[in-house]
Amino acid sequence: MATNPRNSNKKPRILSGMRSTGRLHLGNYVGALANWVRLQDDYECYFFIADWHALTSDYADTSRVKANTIEVALDYLAAGLDPERSTLFIQSHVPQHAELHLLLSMITPLGWLERVPTYKEQRDNIKDKDLGTYGFLGYPVLQAADILIYQAAYVPVGEDQVSHLELTREIARRFNMFYAGGRGDIFPEPQPLLTPTPKLPGTDGRKMSKSYGNTILLTDPEPVVRQKLKPMVTDPARVRRSDPGNPDVCPVGDLHKVFSDRATLAKVDAGCRTAGIGCIECKGWAADSVVSVLNPLQERRKKYEDNPKLAWEVLDAGSAKARRASESTMKEVRDAMGMSKDYEPPAKSATSE
Ligand code: SF4
Repeated sequence: MATNPRNSNKKPRILSGMRSTGRLHLGNYVGALANWVRLQDDYECYFFIADWHALTSDYADTSRVKANTIEVALDYLAAGLDPERSTLFIQSHVPQHAELHLLLSMITPLGWLERVPTYKEQRDNIKDKDLGTYGFLGYPVLQAADILIYQAAYVPVGEDQVSHLELTREIARRFNMFYAGGRGDIFPEPQPLLTPTPKLPGTDGRKMSKSYGNTILLTDPEPVVRQKLKPMVTDPARVRRSDPGNPDVCPVGDLHKVFSDRATLAKVDAGCRTAGIGCIECKGWAADSVVSVLNPLQERRKKYEDNPKLAWEVLDAGSAKARRASESTMKEVRDAMGMSKDYEPPAKSATSE
């Protein structure tokens, strides 16, 4: 396993974060958070709340940014991210990210950014906001700064995000080529740490996503979970109760695959294919499984919900640690670029001799 050369006697360092756009949902949990929780023992983990990234699309109204940051922090802690083992911090509390973003923006060719698939896709699809801004185009550069400033060895990503990391790797290579000189690479190229991202449908059968309004939140109480699952779409072949179905083409079947135990899965499979069970009963079991996953999260969250200042203190301490780590990288960066803050006597110019 490759380790960060600057932390060679330590666990390899990883970094990841989520935009602070409000309460997290089950898709965020199974797609990222649950993996992060598992990684905490084997890696030196930095997990951040990307409030600056939230501004790249939601810049016009910033009234919720801070409250959303706290909500994400509570969900991080509820999911089991442990401040004793992981550094949890707020992006905007570590201004070194912005300094590196600026420096990297100087060397990043415009064409690299215009070619990012999500840039074009989001500009075409999101019509209610003007995304023709400098910040939105440059958001992959900020992302590169977020990762490179910790000289992270790995970034946990799903298969579909590997290409996003490639741009960060290209920016790192370009920086090293210009400035590293004989001193070895300033930025190790971060490797993807592939994590399982099971298919998680939302209540309308499409991918669970905040923008589709089809989410189950980590904070939804049991009655809300049950209510949301009731109208969930099922295998369209099961029109009548007596029609056999196929859990492999049913979004409720997908939910079972992620959250239910073997015995329930077997019951669903046999019952669905023989029309031995009804969809209402099956959704009830899916709700049971989801609730059993959410219960311990909601229990853990309560301590911080009752006293959000505790969560703020975690973020404060984490941000201070993140500032120390990123300032040490920035010293190397400034040195490499000939822009250190130390006094240097003026060099004698050739003409004065
Ligand atoms: S029984 Fe369950 S898996 Fe089968 S179609 Fe109905 S909801 Fe889907």
